Amino acid sequence: MTKSDCLKWANNEAEKILWLGRTIHIVIPSIVEPDEEFSVRISVVGPDQMPTKKALILKIPQQKGWRNIRTTIKVCDKPICLEKVSLKQQGSYRLKAEFNFLNDVRYVFSNPIWCRSNPPTRLFWGDIHIHSIDGLCQPYTAKEPRFGMEYARNVTFLDFMAITDHVRGLNASKWEKQRKLVKEFDKPGEFVSFLAFESSHRSGQGGDNNVGFLRVSVLSLSFTRTKLGTTCLFC
Ligand SMILES: [Zn+2]
Repeated sequence: MTKSDCLKWANNEAEKILWLGRTIHIVIPSIVEPDEEFSVRISVVGPDQMPTKKALILKIPQQKGWRNIRTTIKVCDKPICLEKVSLKQQGSYRLKAEFNFLNDVRYVFSNPIWCRSNPPTRLFWGDIHIHSIDGLCQPYTAKEPRFGMEYARNVTFLDFMAITDHVRGLNASKWEKQRKLVKEFDKPGEFVSFLAFESSHRSGQGGDNNVGFLRVSVLSLSFTRTKLGTTCLFC
């Protein structure tokens, strides 16, 4: 094998890994009523779990019971939002999409959705235990708090989230930065972000104790380092 053959072979294999390692998120609400309009949000991430610039042509064929759904879309690093989709009748559904890969048709599905008149409850999804670089946790992989919020809102399409950094890594200016971020991202009805932190006791052996706040406007924290860890006072 010549050097250029080898490179070509390696590039082909890399390309295959890139395509096989993708995750396609098709996210819809978990519970709706018949005729209630909702949106379908779609994102594609590569093997590194980051949005990929490599475009994917996704076909969503007409499906029984679905309104406003038939489409062909190009998804790359920007999330797609299909508006005003609805279901005609009660039942359980998953939305099917298809794409071509290696001369074959592949199928992907959304999360399940339950359609029922006057549903007794609604279901929302979130993550209230996320660490960022501010909390000195996993410094080689942790990212800025803004990254966590953008990712939750625009890539995995969570309904709510909270950054829960270790108080040992926080200080007044980081706390103020997170407070402003929470305010910026918190849009009830679309996406909810909580102000929160994690307090580790007994030198880290006391478990992950996460504390979240419903209000961001009045809160500041005062941090004190003690023998058994860092504690904070609410002001
Ligand atoms: Zn934790």
